[in-house]
Amino acid sequence: IEDCLRLRTGCAQIDDLTRGGFRFKMINEVYGEAGVGKTQLCLQLAVAVQMPPISGAAFYVCTDKSFPANRLLELSLSVPSAFGLSGDESLMDKVFVEHSMDFIALRRLLFVKLPKLLENVRISLVVIDSIAAIFRSEDIKYLERSKEIDDICRQLNHLARTHNLVVVCVNQVTDDPNSDTSGPSLGNAWANYVVCRFLIERDWTNGIRRFRVVNAPYLKPDACRFIITQSGLH
Ligand code: ATP
Repeated sequence: IEDCLRLRTGCAQIDDLTRGGFRFKMINEVYGEAGVGKTQLCLQLAVAVQMPPISGAAFYVCTDKSFPANRLLELSLSVPSAFGLSGDESLMDKVFVEHSMDFIALRRLLFVKLPKLLENVRISLVVIDSIAAIFRSEDIKYLERSKEIDDICRQLNHLARTHNLVVVCVNQVTDDPNSDTSGPSLGNAWANYVVCRFLIERDWTNGIRRFRVVNAPYLKPDACRFIITQSGLH
């Protein structure tokens, strides 16, 4: 089942750990506490996907914060050096940014806008940052939420397979007062669709973070360390 093409992040440790980066045609999840660097990783992927041999564009859905365009600019100038190329602000033009505050808006993006865009633009990466924010509202009943998660995930899988996309969904951690371990949000309704699950966590030492393979069919559970600087993940 191994596909040889992967989306490299450009961070050597993470690319080694994942045996070449993120896989196509499936849902990848990156979860972790606030501020650990989930968005930084996704922005870096949005630049990295434009590098050869993939040379594709990115579709980036922001759900709970404004899009950090300045940070994308910094990364557009610096990340290509990890691929032996020089950076360029025009890389920002190939990141199609959308905002969606709720399930209905996300649905419209995934069922209408993205399929239309895919007819004209070779998108290779879809990021949802974050999926948890969409389903956080306490007004949604459990069953209703499961059905909504189901709809979104089926469509993501369909698009990922038919258009050869890497799908990366950012997730938050639950704060379950009855449990001493905190896991990814959204429970089984969501977890059933996630093929590769990665965790970003802080290390003990200042500024050092850890990227952990929690679950992936082709990788053993393991972790590596990295830092975030102005020029990205290293
Ligand atoms: P949230 O769940 O709150 O959205 P997140 O996990 O997505 O958080 P990010 O926004 O990706 O977190 O990461 C923020 C972290 O990235 C901060 O800890 C910050 O120190 C680091 N960071 C951002 N820009 C830079 C930079 N230019 N240089 C160094 N570190 C940076």
